Amino acid sequence: MAEILVLAEHRRGALRDVTYELLAKGREITDSGGLELSTIVLGSGCSGFAGELSNHADRVLVVDHPDLAEFNAEAYSKVLVGVIAERKPRLTLIGHTSCGVDLAPALAIKSGLPLATDCIDLSLDGGGLAVTRQVYGGKMNVEGVLREAEGHIATVRPATFEPGEPRGEPGEVVSLEYPAELELVTRFTGFVEPPPGEVDIADAEIIVGVGRGIKDEKNIPVVRELAEALKGELGCSRPIVDKGWLPKDRQVGSSGKTVKPKLYIASGISGSFQHVMGMKGSDLIVVVNKDSKAPLFGFADYGVVGDLFKVLPALTEKIREFKGSG
Ligand SMILES: Cc1cc2nc3c(=O)[nH]c(=O)nc-3n(C[C@H](O)[C@H](O)[C@H](O)COP(=O)(O)OP(=O)(O)OC[C@H]3O[C@@H](n4cnc5c(N)ncnc54)[C@H](O)[C@@H]3O)c2cc1C
Repeated sequence: MAEILVLAEHRRGALRDVTYELLAKGREITDSGGLELSTIVLGSGCSGFAGELSNHADRVLVVDHPDLAEFNAEAYSKVLVGVIAERKPRLTLIGHTSCGVDLAPALAIKSGLPLATDCIDLSLDGGGLAVTRQVYGGKMNVEGVLREAEGHIATVRPATFEPGEPRGEPGEVVSLEYPAELELVTRFTGFVEPPPGEVDIADAEIIVGVGRGIKDEKNIPVVRELAEALKGELGCSRPIVDKGWLPKDRQVGSSGKTVKPKLYIASGISGSFQHVMGMKGSDLIVVVNKDSKAPLFGFADYGVVGDLFKVLPALTEKIREFKGSG
């Protein structure tokens, strides 16, 4: 039976959330289209992954080799091109992560298959693939259909779909050979850890996040004062770090920290998926943004459409009053 193939992503011994999100979307598509759901894990000593993944798919394909211990786009594409040529999956799903972005275009070229990137929704459309993508910083969605082809490849934006629950009946685990003739010119040499900072915002219970809406470094105290009044920590979006206004250890997001505070107040942050990936697990999310169409409002428990330079000082004052220190 034809299948949908999900590439399992892992890093430093753990499967990444996006894998379960892709499996949930893959299951939704297979259920409506009479297809099977397979997942493929490329790794070294990865029987643990296979067992875990078998609770989410009809079939787990495993390629186990020391060259695959950590992500290597060259090795992955060389292995996957063979698997796709042989199995001809109707659709191959890959996370739109730094790994997926590195891998998918080369894989599509080598496989001769159409590719849609950064999809936020997708469904089979006859022999084609209907996809939804975002444009203008997430303010508009674009729907399109990829032409009919033997198969399609799509990268899917992380944090878009809810991860699926394990199923009662585990799928089969199938070992595939690592191609003996592979000669790699790239190799994984190691992870580079950022230098330890003063605070680890990953442990903070309250975070006030600041984004490009703050406009100037000299305005950062407006946000810092609210964080201090709440006895919380200051977090930020990446442009704030790129400009050198706050240190890297304050950055929230896919290339920064993943935080899960009880309260996350985002001020002047638009809500790129890279930022959302780092804070969507917060218990309570409050968004302050002057643009009512800012994508981050879609994740907010409470939203304030307004100027942060008016809203934040008023909030700081109220909190100080409430705590009896103002
Ligand atoms: C590989 C890669 C990795 C990345 N990793 C990360 C990451 O880890 N974390 C991250 O955050 N980003 C990351 N980014 C960048 C990301 O794509 C966005 O560019 C970034 O998150 C945007 O930051 P922002 O929301 O602060 O700025 P903008 O998108 O410019 O948004 C500023 C917001 O402020 C609002 N605003 C303006 N003035 C006011 C005001 N007076 N009052 C209230 N609101 C106001 C605006 O309406 C707007 O919504 C990454 C990008 C790439 C390509």
